[in-house]
Amino acid sequence: MPIQRCSLHVSLLVCILAVAAPCFAQTAQPSPPNSDPTYLQIRNVGLAAESFSVKDLDLKRDAATFHLHSGTVCFVSPVQGVVTGAVFAGDGDMLLNPVQASERASLKMLTKGDDFREHFERLVLRFTDSTYDDIKKSATPASTGCDAGLLKDSQHVTKKVIHFNLSARILQDIFQGEPSGLFVAFVHGKNYDDKLLFQIDPHGAFGSETEGVELRSYGENKVGAWASFPISKVYRQKLGPGAARNSSIHIEHQQLDTTIEKNAHLSGKATTSFLSHDSGLRVISFNLHPTLRVQGVTDQNGQSLPFIQEDKDDDPDFYVILPKALSIGDKCQITTTYAGKDAVTNEGNGNYYPIAREDWYPSNPRGDQSQYDLTFHIAKGMKMAATGSLVSERVEDGKNITVWKSDAVQDMAGFQFGRMKEEDAKLTSPEMLIATYANEEPPDWTQRLKDDPRFGNLSTISGMKQPLSEAQASIAVYTDFFGPLAIKRLNISQQTACNYGQSWPGLIWLPVCSFYDGTVRHWLGLDFSDNIYWKVVTPHEVAHQWWGNTVHFFSYRDNWMSEGFSDFSASLVLQNAYGPKGQKEFINFWNSERKYIVEKNIQGFRPIDVGPVTMGYRLNNSRTGSIARDLIYPKGAFILHMIRMMMWDRQSGDQQFKILMKDFLTTYAGKSASTEDFKTTVEKHMTNQMKGFGNGSMNWFFDEYVYGTALPSYRLDAASFDTDANGDVVLGIKLIQSGVDDKFQMPVPIYLELADGRVIFLGRAGMIGNTTFEQKIPLKGLKDKPRHALINYYDDVLCSLN
Ligand SMILES: [Zn+2]
Repeated sequence: MPIQRCSLHVSLLVCILAVAAPCFAQTAQPSPPNSDPTYLQIRNVGLAAESFSVKDLDLKRDAATFHLHSGTVCFVSPVQGVVTGAVFAGDGDMLLNPVQASERASLKMLTKGDDFREHFERLVLRFTDSTYDDIKKSATPASTGCDAGLLKDSQHVTKKVIHFNLSARILQDIFQGEPSGLFVAFVHGKNYDDKLLFQIDPHGAFGSETEGVELRSYGENKVGAWASFPISKVYRQKLGPGAARNSSIHIEHQQLDTTIEKNAHLSGKATTSFLSHDSGLRVISFNLHPTLRVQGVTDQNGQSLPFIQEDKDDDPDFYVILPKALSIGDKCQITTTYAGKDAVTNEGNGNYYPIAREDWYPSNPRGDQSQYDLTFHIAKGMKMAATGSLVSERVEDGKNITVWKSDAVQDMAGFQFGRMKEEDAKLTSPEMLIATYANEEPPDWTQRLKDDPRFGNLSTISGMKQPLSEAQASIAVYTDFFGPLAIKRLNISQQTACNYGQSWPGLIWLPVCSFYDGTVRHWLGLDFSDNIYWKVVTPHEVAHQWWGNTVHFFSYRDNWMSEGFSDFSASLVLQNAYGPKGQKEFINFWNSERKYIVEKNIQGFRPIDVGPVTMGYRLNNSRTGSIARDLIYPKGAFILHMIRMMMWDRQSGDQQFKILMKDFLTTYAGKSASTEDFKTTVEKHMTNQMKGFGNGSMNWFFDEYVYGTALPSYRLDAASFDTDANGDVVLGIKLIQSGVDDKFQMPVPIYLELADGRVIFLGRAGMIGNTTFEQKIPLKGLKDKPRHALINYYDDVLCSLN
């Protein structure tokens, strides 16, 4: 697609002339970073001389109200005629009342009470909304001044504590020329925390990017995002097509030319083609790793553009300033050159570790799906494995140069490289090349183990076959259950980190320790949850090629599907690829998943209780500890497992479930799916029994397990086997459901272990509320008495076992 100039305000004629003289107003000389005069005024803004008294003034901001009972207000000096801040000293309260029950529950964790009402005597506000006018109109001149230290303290916090360049964010709005809805309050609370930060930002709040309202604490003892929710409609209407994501731009294409030296120093040139989602857009924000220092930014005519990137230890957010504003839909192309160390580290013996995993090039801070063309220059003798398909590989001037192209839109681009050995396998059904890479020598951190005889061989070359065969098995199972992938090449590479993997489009990093044998891992103290982790790490990462890399997920609230579906997928590999041994491991797997969810952590919380999966990593805070991972992965997996088990049928097995998953994959391939999108797809494929159970909707299930924190208990109180007049067995069963509210409902599966040891599915008992299901069930045609009746044999329902 041809790139047009950044500004389409100008007429076509002017643009044609612009071949010699570009549409952009030009800066004659490249300006040093952070030198835009308006930016510097905002950055160094101080209090104006005037002060005002306020009495009983209410500032309503979305779900928050600030009552300024009495006190003194001083405003900051105007910049380009706009006043962007105020300090208050006196007597005030802040009330916060989100409409979302889960957000009110989260606030309760902080306050240990029912309402959020924080008292304060000091408050700093920064804004581009109507706050100045709102205060000024009811204020009267005061005789006493304000403490300038309050404003300075807030500037120190954004720079040195939360590392967020608020000045650049304010500059965006000032250059946009119309009042935006930005409102930031530094609340020095008396009751809960004196380091509260409340934000409303139509471009996304600091920590919860796809949502505009957030209350967080930056105090060490209360750290957490205690409330976060979408901004009210009034603000949203001002935004263009990126409103859902709070994104100002859409990046269509990235051309990345990257050189990594032997000492791991990275230098890059990124040509980024994007279109504007906002009208009046001049200041554009990008994600870039703080140690990658921008050397210059140019437009498509090679003209230098001003940019902002403060020191790596301060608030190093990267912003580019265009000379003219863009309108909605205007296209633009900029080229950024950058370089630095510590984005990749040299781990010794030809092992490298990319630290800047997701920000090694300028990308959209709100996430995006883009096409990529990548070129890498690394030392001769090393190998590169990157996202996309390998277009070419050559050696030139002592460098190995590879070119990669995305097969479909990608959330991001990634790579792994080093002195690696490559081993390939060609799959025919589906057609795909799997390339595995292992480092020829172990990284430095294993040196301490070298002389210890317990560890034996630490070479990963001999361990390459294992992940290769696990990946092959996984691809076969997933293709059957979910449908084929669009990519034709999958790179699987070792990485030096021991305890986690990561999946990129067409590229998987496996922890180096997954290449070691069980004995080595045992001596390293890595027997996680009966070693199940090591059995599923490759299938989990391969599954992300479907969940996360083909179907993208919309926000942190939907990320449970990416991790949960991938964990679930790994269970399918255990069950389908390894015969009877795998069946046993399948049952162990779900047992282990349940334990993660219902066992208390050191802080005394069970993951299931702290909040719904849709709160994502926000569930980690100073009160509940680091708990999110133990909820999102296994409970996300359970949610899909429960749907599968509900859909399973004696005649057709998983057929209906496979249709559902294939539909979900094809509908959302290359797009971002939300939790509600998935619910709609499930509702489209409900079995008749499910339709009857939920009156044609899956609301009941999603309210209980996805948006809720329900955990029922089941007890099989009695099960007896008699014989009727025909000699057929009659099952007498008494099943109790407890620990739930009156509305909780569940079809509870009943199984029989037959006389010959086989376990068969009998049916489902529909139960509502705290209730008992008691029935005599004739088992027509069954003459031999079963050994047992069982419920939940395959962990079909996530519950606590009695
Ligand atoms: Zn994962």
